[in-house]
Amino acid sequence: MTDFTLTTDPDGIATITWDVQGKSMNVLSLAGIAELDGLVDRALSDPAIKGVILTSAKPDFAGGMDLKVIAQMQAGGVQAVFDGVMSMHKLLRKIERAGMDAKTPRGGKPIVAALPGTALGIGLELPLACHRIIAADNPRAKIGLPEIKVGIFPGAGGTTRLTRKLGALAAAPFLLEGKLSDPKAAKSGGLVDEVVAPETLLSRARDWVLAATEADLVKPWDAAGYKMPGGTPYHPAGFMTFVGASAMVTGQTMGVYPAASAMLSAVYEGALVPFDTALKIEARWFTKILMDPTSAAMIRTLFINKEALEKGANRPALPDSAVRHLGVIGAGMMGAGIAHVAALAGITVTLIDATQEAAERGRAQSEALLDKAVSRRKMTPEKKAETLTRITPATDYAALAPCDLIVEAVFEDPAVKADVTRRAEAASGAIFATNTSTLPITALAKVSVRPDRFIGIHFFSPVDKMALVEIIRGKQTAPEAVAKALDFVRQLRKTPIVVNDARFFYANRCIIPYLNEGMRLLGEGVAPALVENAARMLGMPLGPLQLIDETSLDLGVKIARATRAAMGDAYPDADVDAVLFRMADQGRLGKKAKAGFYAYDEGGKRLGLWSGLAETFPLANPQPALKEVQNRLLYVQVLEAIRALEQGVLTDIREGDVGAILGWGFAPWSGGPFAWADRTGAEAVARMAETLAAAHGPRFAPPALLSDMAARGESFYRRFARAA
Ligand code: NAD
Repeated sequence: MTDFTLTTDPDGIATITWDVQGKSMNVLSLAGIAELDGLVDRALSDPAIKGVILTSAKPDFAGGMDLKVIAQMQAGGVQAVFDGVMSMHKLLRKIERAGMDAKTPRGGKPIVAALPGTALGIGLELPLACHRIIAADNPRAKIGLPEIKVGIFPGAGGTTRLTRKLGALAAAPFLLEGKLSDPKAAKSGGLVDEVVAPETLLSRARDWVLAATEADLVKPWDAAGYKMPGGTPYHPAGFMTFVGASAMVTGQTMGVYPAASAMLSAVYEGALVPFDTALKIEARWFTKILMDPTSAAMIRTLFINKEALEKGANRPALPDSAVRHLGVIGAGMMGAGIAHVAALAGITVTLIDATQEAAERGRAQSEALLDKAVSRRKMTPEKKAETLTRITPATDYAALAPCDLIVEAVFEDPAVKADVTRRAEAASGAIFATNTSTLPITALAKVSVRPDRFIGIHFFSPVDKMALVEIIRGKQTAPEAVAKALDFVRQLRKTPIVVNDARFFYANRCIIPYLNEGMRLLGEGVAPALVENAARMLGMPLGPLQLIDETSLDLGVKIARATRAAMGDAYPDADVDAVLFRMADQGRLGKKAKAGFYAYDEGGKRLGLWSGLAETFPLANPQPALKEVQNRLLYVQVLEAIRALEQGVLTDIREGDVGAILGWGFAPWSGGPFAWADRTGAEAVARMAETLAAAHGPRFAPPALLSDMAARGESFYRRFARAA
């Protein structure tokens, strides 16, 4: 199997074309690296070859390194990782020096990267080693270095080259935030050198090679007198940059993402030494990060397992049942969002609401999102018009007859949902899904005449942004309905988890205890800033009080009332309600009311914690230690996830970990609650749970499954292993 091929033309220009067979996107594998290395040697040593174009036969250049390779390297141990990284540097440095004499720098051959579309990770690091980067003007293309998002950093010279090319300050958003740009933005940001019309990409690359002079091939950092843009750490301007960057990284990562600070160290130390030494320093820091449990856990959850779920790891073995015509009932915030993402995926949508006006409003919600995409050049006006024509607003259920899937997103009221279910089933034989966030599926299916074709498809808000979709099997849901729901999620390019029916399913079941614990702490007199900061320092994107403000306190009140009604005397959260209802009674309903646990300005901008909290919930003396607060906030989530597994709501821990991070932002650095528990060790988790239970109540008592695992010294990923 070949990933790269080399062809030459009569003018002596070689084209190395990347085209990994059987994949829609190029990714670099170990075999691919060896092949490319061989072809570069051939091009540089063949006197008939004058210059090289490196391009792709696919619409995109490359999606990056095959992260499975990194997982394999990690398994080989520290020396194997370092050697592997250094051999990558050797290849890229060979491309960059292109056979030139080390001293004079003369005699090299021009090598240009011609990018037809997306170029990510190593797909950009490789071009950065070439002498020029020309990108096709393809507004859908994404160019950048997203490594930081899976807990690593650009370790094939991207970190060192980009900082030397742009300076540390200008490179920071690309390296530290993994910012991606379309080709035009990549040009103005300095990532690529030229943007040309797609049809002229190769001819322009050819012209450049033919016209290139020897001076064009020498990178600034290989030329005499090179000075880093913006200054090195001991330059007054550089000093300011590095001090600021260090503070920014610590502020944003709260110290829980080792990759960001390791990358900064590589940049800082690398800036003080010659280029080749800087690459070696980068390799050392990169090796350290690859060997850190954080990167291994993030790669496993956010790449390998996420992809396995998207490819249907838990799909029943049934023929493809992609959705052709979707019915959506309820054109409110969620229904309109679902109609929008479906239309974007090319699915015909009938969008029903009680009045034509409400249904039209739903479609207008999609139009507003499409307008935004057009104004940002993410979409052409033609594509917008085509997408909108796929959504037909209606009120008559007869319009649902041709649908093969119907999703209802009407009010969260069992009676309204029952009525809608009956009417939809009378009009169409489609599989029927409910987007309920709290009502058990089996109970809602009671009114269904086809309960085997009744299922939960739980989207998160906002639908167009949130990647996770929770599919819920009711007691009678048949595999056909599960397959249909999974095919639908695949069409939307979102990530599915499939769980069994129970109150709040999986994600809400775990997030509610987190929110409740935040309110409990407040009610006990713990300083609200301590609560919020403790959560943020765990790596939670939002503290519990801020998250409650975002989702609104009246939703909390509604859920609390319904849960109390369902559980009766067994209801355990009276102390939470004391806080919740006290806030709600004062009209502090959260962000939408511009008043909640936080204060907001007129425009709805969050200012800071509400000063009245101190009076409403007087501070206790003494305050608990930070670690104690963190343990409470973390363990309530992890223990609930373990209970969901123990009770059979979750059937696959990969779904538990992927769902936790994508669904409610569970500390992404950890790889998810099960990965975190494995890293901590079942015995240590069980022991801490017992300590917390003794101090704060039975909600922290270790589930039997955890105690059993602690006794046997087992880990979740060994006991519940599934092939990727
Ligand atoms: P919403 O109030 O914004 O929209 C509900 C829509 O349903 C309204 O347009 C209403 O006119 C319409 N409707 C009500 N009764 C109807 C009927 N009999 N026939 C046709 N249309 C009818 O509510 P929402 O926030 O979009 O929530 C909808 C569902 O999604 C609820 O079940 C909710 O629990 C669930 N959900 C909400 C969120 C969220 O964050 N808001 C997240 C996940 C799931």
